[in-house]
Parts: sequence; structure tokens; C-alpha cells
Amino acid sequence: MKKDDIIQMKIEDFSTEGLGIGHAEGMAVFVKDTVIGDEIRAKIIKTKKTYAYGRLMEVLQASPDRVEPVCPVARQCGGCQLQAMDYQAQLRFKQNKVRSNLMRIGGFGEELLDRIMGPVIGMEEPFHYRNKAQFPIGTDREGRLVAGFYAGRTHSIIDNHDCALGIKENRQILEMILEHMRSHGISAYDEASGKGLVRHVMIRSGFRTGQIMVCLILNGRKLPAQEELVRKLSGLPGVVGITLNINQDKTNVILGRETRLLWGQEYIEDYIGDVKYQISPLSFYQVNPVQTEKLYGTALEYAALQGNETVWDLYCGIGTISLFLAQKAGKVYGVEIVPEAIDDARRNASLNHFENTEFYVGKAEEVLPEKYEKEGITADVIVIDPPRKGCEEAVLDTMVRMAPDRIVYVSCDSATLARDLKYLCGHGYELKRVRATDMFPMSVHVETVALLTRKSQ
Ligand code: SAH
Repeated sequence: MKKDDIIQMKIEDFSTEGLGIGHAEGMAVFVKDTVIGDEIRAKIIKTKKTYAYGRLMEVLQASPDRVEPVCPVARQCGGCQLQAMDYQAQLRFKQNKVRSNLMRIGGFGEELLDRIMGPVIGMEEPFHYRNKAQFPIGTDREGRLVAGFYAGRTHSIIDNHDCALGIKENRQILEMILEHMRSHGISAYDEASGKGLVRHVMIRSGFRTGQIMVCLILNGRKLPAQEELVRKLSGLPGVVGITLNINQDKTNVILGRETRLLWGQEYIEDYIGDVKYQISPLSFYQVNPVQTEKLYGTALEYAALQGNETVWDLYCGIGTISLFLAQKAGKVYGVEIVPEAIDDARRNASLNHFENTEFYVGKAEEVLPEKYEKEGITADVIVIDPPRKGCEEAVLDTMVRMAPDRIVYVSCDSATLARDLKYLCGHGYELKRVRATDMFPMSVHVETVALLTRKSQ
């Protein structure tokens, strides 16, 4: 197979980047803008040893799961990868992805998974689920101001003020800001030159409280006619705070370290279940609150707390899972690498009057072994929610030595989940239950919760 060859094939799967995968002449071929089940014709644009990339030329026979995308810029925009796929088919794809990783990488048998794996938890309304949006601001070729999202794998901005995943209020806020920029001749930041003022607009909302925070990210310390814009934005329904974040570095990191309050309060409040959280502009917070409640519900169910257990929550972020568990546990210890997140965790614990939580800043692979070896800590239940790369072996190994009755593994990458579960099952644990939750409809990502129990000796 070589460049410019024309091939015909059926799309069988999706890659982690959302490209359709098919096979032709013994090679895997990745093609954008396809749906599993499509019969396509593609032109080869790049070849590697064992795989190739193709450009879609024609859909010869559309997959029965193909639908018209809701969003007019779905194809160009890098935000969604699965909009052209029926939502029920997306859920089937995610269920299969988790299942096949558990089989292929984890070595778990089909019969076991049939028995212990629940169906993926989907959304009833898979749009407008995101509580946070970060719109880059720029200019198009004609010099007009644009705001929207980056095109897939590039930094050119697709002008779109009304993302189908975000809240409906985003549009009015964004257009108010763009209008202010136009009427005062305020420039947008240009990544190439590092010049220009307005870099991003971030909007966060509390779904249960209706509170909205607008954060302007500037390559500078002040916006011209700032008070006028603040007055207008603060009059919009739901807006409780307006902040300014200063990022004068030539970087593609969105937020700078300094945030100033321009009006109202510095944070928004939201609830997951009965637990109240204060969220400041820089804090990590799950972006799909409706599904987060279901995900944590699964984790809590698997933890099966009676009220007196000692629980460790590793990779705890701002303590969202820790506090959810603290409602039912004797004592909860959280470990997280980002110091600011731990500040939030402590503040949120006291906001909810929890006196049974304690948080440590540090790497899970250092804090846990050290606490175990030096202080002889114990755990009845350990909950872990690591980043995509999964757990370091030191964490897995220490957990095994601590021998909790139950380990609840929350994962955003089912491949590393499968790898880590295999390790734990080789060291005295048994996989008891697995269930995925669709936290990011229209994207290829899926979250999974797994329960392991210690085999009786
Ligand atoms: N459980 C939280 C956050 C999960 S995201 C929630 O549901 O909101 C994973 C978290 O792990 C992030 O907050 C990240 O900062 C943290 N992290 C990454 N590497 C880590 C490490 N080696 N040790 C401890 N925490 C780490």
C-alpha cells in the first residue's frame, strides 16, 4: 500500500482519537469522519509499517448508525468525534471498548464479564451536558473576531458561539464580550506572535444552583472599559462572579496562575448528590455533573460502606469522591498531587461539616507506601481514580500489602484499567463487578468503575 492508493473497506472500530478504523490489504487504516459500519472509499495519505491514514472520498454504504450531526461545524471542530453516530450506537461502542480491553489486556474471560459487567450508564439527553467551556478568541483571515473551538489537532479557531455540548447561556455571554471588544477596538491574542489581549473566555456553571462564573483570560492585566463590560455581564441571569485571569506567557496552557476578582464572588457552588462544592476558576471539577452523580453512585455502591470503615481515596482531586464517601464512612483519607486541589478539598469538607476527612498533598506512589511503612496505616476500602496512565506499580503493590477488603477502581482509560486489574487479580484480588458510565457523549472517552474484593485466604 502506498500514498495516493484508493482503497475500499468497512469501518470496524474507532481509535482513541476518534478516527474510524478498517482493514485493507492486511493493514489497519485510520480514516476521519467515518462511523462504525460505514462501507467507504478512501485515498491513502500516509503509510507506516503496519498501518496507514486515509482521507474519506465517498461513503459507499452508510452505516445504519449514521445520523445527521446536530452541530453544523461537527466535522471541522475538534471537540466532538462521534456526532455522526447514533447515541445508542455510541453506548454500544463504549461498552464494547471496555469489555474488549478487559479481555485483551486484562485477560478476563467472556463468561466472567457476561456475569459481572453491567450495561454502560448513558444520558437521557446527551447534549448541553458540560458545565465548563473555554472558548479561544482570535481573528479570521479577514481580521474579524472569532470565538469557538480549535479544529481537530490544530490551533485554528472554528467560529461557534453555540456549542451543542455547552449550556445555552454561553452564547449570550460570549457575544456580549465580542461586542465589547469590537466597540472598544480590543485585540484578540495571536498565538503565533504572542501579541494581542484577549486569549480565552471561560464560563463555568453550577447545574443545580444555576450560578455562573465568567472568567476572562488576558495577555495583560486589564481590559479597556472593563467596568462597562462588568456592568453588562453582571446583569445577565445566573451570573454571580466575574474574574480575570492573567496569562502573559507564550504558551498554549490556557490559564495563568493569577486570578483577580472583578465583581461578585470568586467561586460558584454546586451539588453532587447532597454534597455541596465550592469551585474556583482554577480548580478541576468534573465537567458533566449529571453523569458524575451516577459515576460516584456506582463507586459508593461498590464500596458498600456500613459507617465505620477507614477509606483511602487516592488521586482525590478537590475531594469530590472523598466527600461523597465521607457521608457513609468512618474516616476518609484523600491523597492528591496538586496543592491547590487539596486546599479546595479541605474547604469543601468544612463547608459540609465533615469532621471525618483528612487530606495529604503528594504523589500517591510516595504517600501511600510511606504512610504504610512508617505509620502502619490500614484501610478497609481503597478508592482510586488515577489519570489516564493508570497507577504506578508502587501504588498497586502497597494496596496489595495493605490488604483492604475492597478496592474500587474509577478509571478514565479502560486500557490501563485492564492492565492494573490484571496485576491486582494476580495478587490476591478478584474482579467482582464492572460498570461504565458515559461522562462524555459525542466523544470516544468512557469512564469505568470496577470492584475488586480480596480472595478469602
Ligand atoms: N477523583 C477526582 C479527580 C480525578 S482526576 C474527581 O473525581 O474529581 C485524577 C487526579 O489525579 C487529578 O486531580 C491529578 O492532579 C491527580 N494526580 C495525577 N498524578 C498523581 C499522582 N501521582 N499522585 C496523586 N495524584 C495524582
